[in-house]
Amino acid sequence: MAKRRRRYSWALELKSGDPELRALSRRSADGVSYARSFAEDARERSAAALAGEPLEEPLSAADLAEPWVSPVEVHAAIKQARIELFGKDLTNSAIAYRMRQRREREQRICAEPECEGTISRLAHGRRRYCAAHGSGRARVARHRRSRRASAEPGS
Ligand SMILES: [Zn+2]
Repeated sequence: MAKRRRRYSWALELKSGDPELRALSRRSADGVSYARSFAEDARERSAAALAGEPLEEPLSAADLAEPWVSPVEVHAAIKQARIELFGKDLTNSAIAYRMRQRREREQRICAEPECEGTISRLAHGRRRYCAAHGSGRARVARHRRSRRASAEPGS
């Protein structure tokens, strides 16, 4: 069975000032920069192929690895970045879909009253709350509040 090839072009669309990147852990930020290197390599190779130039070997995780970073860690960091950015380790086509939505979508604001927190444009379309208000604890508090409100007589 052929191993599915991962695509990395999403990493080139994320610019260093983007809010999605500011929220990432250190490991995921490294993962994004590894993914960028793979994406740039793929882009250069396809340009070379179009120009009829001889192709060099594709960039490998071993090329990106450093004495203190193994090739396995390179891939693990990229996977971590995908999970932090998209909520889970999505397939190529699901990532392409999210990136397309991101380009088309306005910046969304948290549904919690008076919260101006933003929702990652990479998040699922159904997501309504910012990171702070989307947590389990915030959800329980909302649920209690709405139960209390409906229990009040004559309101
Ligand atoms: Zn919020």
